[in-house]
Amino acid sequence: MESIRAAAYLADPSQPLVESGVEVRIDGGRICAVELVPPEALDGVEATRLLMPALANAHDHGRGLRTLSYGAEDHRLEEWLIALSRHPSVDPYLVAAAAFGRMAETGVGALNHCHVTQDPSRLFEEAVAVSRAAQDVGLHVAFAVPFGGRNPLVYGDPADLLANLPEPDRSIARDQIDSLRLSASVPDRMERLAALEHDYFHLQLGPIAPQWVPEPVLAEIADISARTGRRVHMHLLETSRQREWATATYGKGGLVGYLDRIGLLSPRLSVAHAVWLDPSDCALLAERGVTVSINLSSNMRLRSGAPPLATMRAAGLRFAIGLDGMSFDDDEDMLREARLLWRLHDGVGQPPLPTSELLDALCRSGREAIVGDTAGGRIVTGAPADLLAIDLSRIVHDQVGAFPLMPLFLSRVTRSDVDALWVNGRRTVERGRCLGIDLPAIEDALLAEARAAARIDDAAVERIDRLQQAVQAHYESHGHCEC
Ligand SMILES: [Zn+2]
Repeated sequence: MESIRAAAYLADPSQPLVESGVEVRIDGGRICAVELVPPEALDGVEATRLLMPALANAHDHGRGLRTLSYGAEDHRLEEWLIALSRHPSVDPYLVAAAAFGRMAETGVGALNHCHVTQDPSRLFEEAVAVSRAAQDVGLHVAFAVPFGGRNPLVYGDPADLLANLPEPDRSIARDQIDSLRLSASVPDRMERLAALEHDYFHLQLGPIAPQWVPEPVLAEIADISARTGRRVHMHLLETSRQREWATATYGKGGLVGYLDRIGLLSPRLSVAHAVWLDPSDCALLAERGVTVSINLSSNMRLRSGAPPLATMRAAGLRFAIGLDGMSFDDDEDMLREARLLWRLHDGVGQPPLPTSELLDALCRSGREAIVGDTAGGRIVTGAPADLLAIDLSRIVHDQVGAFPLMPLFLSRVTRSDVDALWVNGRRTVERGRCLGIDLPAIEDALLAEARAAARIDDAAVERIDRLQQAVQAHYESHGHCEC
């Protein structure tokens, strides 16, 4: 049994903040009591503490090594993906632990981790490392098991692109394409990895995106999800080029209709980005109960555009918030990411975004997309004890007189204000620092390993540049949308 006191608390994202002293008792991973207490009962720390449900990062890749740190500059998505091959070969545990530790310290208690393999033939070993990191750090990790194998280099036929590449670039590109072919059946891969599940590690089916997954595999994933209840997470219509490919392949607005016909659209599905949805897509996804992860910083950094949030909201499409490992300041600040969404969508040429919807996205809908509906994302008796304590002292330091806290919170809070985090009733962050791992030591070890392993020489950098230019030329000549 642990007792936590605070000066204010968010009982439910859909309700106003309760600005009253509160004591929350937790036991066995659940909240067992919530009682108001008089302000004089609070000590100095408690008197400046806000208690709220833990945050959810609804879409990420666990980038322990940030992409810029190994020279993959921000670019349009399709060219940028080529540069990710610069990722040095390092211990996958260090990668995951560094990423998850930083997430916990920004208040994230649940995370959708789309796993990007360093070596596709070692997916199981990498998943073991990710599972261990989730346990050590102590946050809910939904591990989206990757399935790909379609359009591996570019959308559309790569023949012209390959034919125009000089050797050895062409052979290397061909080897990359071959390495991405599906090596195990969907049930086999899921069954083997299911042995790794525990209280902090949950598997999801992870078709990477419709343009990257063969149709029979997409249909098989939809079928397995319907039969087993297993959740599914997938990128969807992130870039204009993907939309153009989808229109050429399935007809105008046809991709989302196709996904519906194979049974993939359901409340078990969450999709990331959805920047290029049209109104009828939004309506169909909403009708099927799908959740969209909005990843604004990533969309800006990768020149993808801005998601049609007003259209999504008008359709009743549920949304959550994700960092995609590409936060605005490259610092994995989930609270600032939420502010970015709020500022961009609160009334400038579109309807105001109520605080309740923002907080629901941050605390509840994202969480449900990760762990399912476990009555979480609220501070009420019986709810899971996944809680975040914010130290308000910096935020309110210049407050003159008494007025509501929420405007200050929304406008100022950052990861630097995170005080403590509990997940499954376990305290995983204290005074802003991760308890389960020594995060600075993990980050140091990861950097040292990455620098020792850095395999990029000038010739390799030039080869990546040439391939990026060839990819760009493929899209500029409409190689992705020729019928
Ligand atoms: Zn992503």
